[in-house]
Amino acid sequence: MPASELPVARFTDPANRHIAVVGGGISGLVAARELAKTGVRVSIWEQEPTLGGRIRATELAGVPADMGAEAFASRGGTVACYLAELGLAKDIVYPAPLGSWVLAGDQALPLPRGGAIGIPAQPLSKEARRHLGIRGSLRAAIEPWLPLRSAKLGEDPTIADLVSTRLGSRVLERLVRPVTLGVYSSDPEKLRLSAVPGLDAAYQRERSLIKAAKKLRQASSAAGGAVAALSGGMTPLIRALEAEIRRLGCEVHPGVEVAELRSRDHGAWQLCDRNGAVLTRADAVLLAVPEAAAHGLVTLPGEAPEHDEVEVIALAVENSRLDTAPRGTGVLIAAGSVGARGQREDSAALDQPADQASGNVAKENLILAKALTHVTAKWPDRAAARPSGQHVLRLSYGRAGIRPETLELSDAAAFERARVDAEQILGIAIAAEQVVDRARQRWHIAAPSQNRPNVEAPPGIALSGDWVHGTGLASVIPGALKAAQELFAWLIAEPVHPCHSEPESEVRPE
Ligand SMILES: Cc1cc2nc3c(=O)[nH]c(=O)nc-3n(C[C@H](O)[C@H](O)[C@H](O)COP(=O)(O)OP(=O)(O)OC[C@H]3O[C@@H](n4cnc5c(N)ncnc54)[C@H](O)[C@@H]3O)c2cc1C
Repeated sequence: MPASELPVARFTDPANRHIAVVGGGISGLVAARELAKTGVRVSIWEQEPTLGGRIRATELAGVPADMGAEAFASRGGTVACYLAELGLAKDIVYPAPLGSWVLAGDQALPLPRGGAIGIPAQPLSKEARRHLGIRGSLRAAIEPWLPLRSAKLGEDPTIADLVSTRLGSRVLERLVRPVTLGVYSSDPEKLRLSAVPGLDAAYQRERSLIKAAKKLRQASSAAGGAVAALSGGMTPLIRALEAEIRRLGCEVHPGVEVAELRSRDHGAWQLCDRNGAVLTRADAVLLAVPEAAAHGLVTLPGEAPEHDEVEVIALAVENSRLDTAPRGTGVLIAAGSVGARGQREDSAALDQPADQASGNVAKENLILAKALTHVTAKWPDRAAARPSGQHVLRLSYGRAGIRPETLELSDAAAFERARVDAEQILGIAIAAEQVVDRARQRWHIAAPSQNRPNVEAPPGIALSGDWVHGTGLASVIPGALKAAQELFAWLIAEPVHPCHSEPESEVRPE
């Protein structure tokens, strides 16, 4: 009998319908909560033993330290509103107003304030001149008077093309590149204007990148700029969400990989493990897994992408010289940089390109880290949780398209490398015995240019996660809410076929 002739019932009792969420990162958890609030039966399947995905902490000298996301962009207040819904508003904390630094060549300087993604709001300011030299500052300062967009840049240019054309190569190399690498783990050549939230619209409106950067910062919407976190890091959000979805009756299955999705007649889906055993049957599935994993489960347009890798190494260090926060909240490091000499005032040196400033440096002396966060300087609550004089330094490795060099190293060698890099970046000696604990964590990440909000999935499947909605919690949380709402709307518009009420003979791992 053709499907259209089967007797159908309308969707009346949500509890009779089942939506499975695959992936227990922030995206899956937010979607699961949204769906569970409707009364529909919801299950969530996560391959790792714990929920949270790229929000994860480890104990460092007895105190939790974030190894993945450590903050959220406060643009638009979206994440703060969501946290308030979960009763976490009182736990929101803000970074110390120390600002971050950039290390290019051997020159470590505070990042000019008031701009966005490294684009200076005032290219002629003393701060900006220190980075760019007089020539570079003057070149950047004429930008507001240039015609809006040169035809050769196209509709959605890369940040590299746009910045070098409008502001000059010094702004690109000395400010923008270290910031995009640190914030987006992406070279500006791989980052499109549309992938930086708010920048394209502000640029069109203001007809100038400098003015757009200033407006973005004033509106607290600059990536890597206006950020906040929860007291103790971002994992309290995961714990609160887990408690909430369990309270709403969501079935939680940590440590279970969904290896296969089988499409059944009339739109139902079977979730199977590696042995082909059916884990559960669902009327609809929300895939909140990274793009490569989604490609393994359903047919999607395009090829599964190569993912970049990053490694985070965190050190707990007892060294009172760190009490003065020698490089603010942390440092973004341009490729090819060596030990920081600190601020320079002489303009002759400033007009020397950063790569020449480092001279012919032996490869082994180059700093491999792309960013260092002085966690206990940035977050006063994190400092208060530790004994006086104990600091946490978090270094990230892996520039876009290049495997982190540390991945090949043994634990001992990787931690030693991180200690030496930290010394060079911060310009202070850190003895090996002052490192009292250490941890490392490897991550796969999607390049931001791959975000595909309109990617089509088969009926009954919704896609969610940073590769769909954009990197970072401020994009992922609203994206997951929307994906859940759209999937629920699709489900209630669907007729109920008799096969959906088949008894489930399924494996139910705990
Ligand atoms: C080092 C680092 C630092 C970051 N810092 C910040 C920051 O400070 N602020 C910010 O906003 N963002 C930050 N981000 C980005 C942010 O962490 C991510 O954008 C966000 O956490 C992505 O969430 P997600 O749910 O889309 O994906 P994920 O967190 O990756 O969750 C996907 C989940 O799916 C699971 N999974 C995959 N395949 C299967 C399967 N077959 N079966 C079952 N489960 C499966 C995975 O185990 C994973 O738990 C950072 C990222 C990294 C790596």
